[in-house]
Amino acid sequence: MPTNKTESLIKKILRPEIGALSAYHVPNATGMVKLDAMENPYHWPQAMKADWLALIQQAELNRYPDPHAHKLTEAIRSAFKIPDSLGLMLGNGSDEIIQILIQALAKPEATVLSVSPGFVMYEYISLFSRVNYVPVPLSETFELDMPLLTQQIEQHQPAIIFIAYPNNPTGNLFKRSDIEDILHIAPGLVVVDEAYTAFASDSFMDDLIHKKSPAANLLVMRTVSKMGLAGLRLGYMAGDSDWITELNKVRLPYNINVLTQLSAAFALEYKSMLDEQAQMICEQRTLMFSALMEMEDFSPYPSEANFILFRCQQDKGANVFESLKQQGILVKNLGIQPALIDCLRVTVGSDEENQAFLSALANTV
Ligand code: PMP
Repeated sequence: MPTNKTESLIKKILRPEIGALSAYHVPNATGMVKLDAMENPYHWPQAMKADWLALIQQAELNRYPDPHAHKLTEAIRSAFKIPDSLGLMLGNGSDEIIQILIQALAKPEATVLSVSPGFVMYEYISLFSRVNYVPVPLSETFELDMPLLTQQIEQHQPAIIFIAYPNNPTGNLFKRSDIEDILHIAPGLVVVDEAYTAFASDSFMDDLIHKKSPAANLLVMRTVSKMGLAGLRLGYMAGDSDWITELNKVRLPYNINVLTQLSAAFALEYKSMLDEQAQMICEQRTLMFSALMEMEDFSPYPSEANFILFRCQQDKGANVFESLKQQGILVKNLGIQPALIDCLRVTVGSDEENQAFLSALANTV
């Protein structure tokens, strides 16, 4: 319990907008089927685990990590075919890259623009960095509303536009041509956030590589979290090397720790296994989508990510969420956002987990 003295000191010096926030809530999932955080459900084969353990035994924990993570950077370039002509920056999760981008561009009058419903961290980090945040509503079918976006971009002249491709929490892949139009009209950077690229049918990485888009303002950000390495906290962003040089000045020197550098480079040697796991998740996604379509009380939205957003009947969302929880299934309740009333988001898990989720869902009706 804070003493009165602490409370009054907090009141005196803490930024009021921070005081008004509640901390990012991660529910306790002990003993639950955890389908709330877009994690990959699969494990490594025993022999691979043994090789990894042998490798990390050699880690020099008394030393600071390589500040440029050379070996890991090379492993990422080779695994994802990112040529040396592009700059590449690594972050402690792509969350940290979002933070670096916004901090670097946070002039007093700067604006960050994204869409709503969208990924919450763009807004949170804008608030932490004291920059104006403009969320532009998506259409009813969660597409980009291009007339409105164009008008908002012209009005606010954003330093950065974040577009998640596919979008979280809606799961859909926006129209490529709409993003190309945004790249043309944007006065600043456009960050295409490809956190879910392992499950999606399109990517802007090739545009960067072949300079199809106006490469001066396009950056492509990704994470290894959804492809099975969420515990390592590693994101990466590719783009014009001049941009990456400037942004690297804001990055803290040792942001990628020794164990992550070793483990991620090791795991990427098994990229084909990770790709197979992503493929299995996509197959499971198709099965789960059809099952949800067949249930009268739920309407799923098409997804190119490793989760599915679905709407419950009017005023039923919170009850369905609670009932799933009672039955040991944890999903994400998004119903507090006006555009997502009665909507829940379920991560696509293993066959067994998905079956457990679907039977529990049938029991909520
Ligand atoms: N971008 C999007 C669209 C996401 O959904 C997430 C994670 N939920 C992230 C970025 C952050 O990923 P991480 O920090 O795990 O790399």
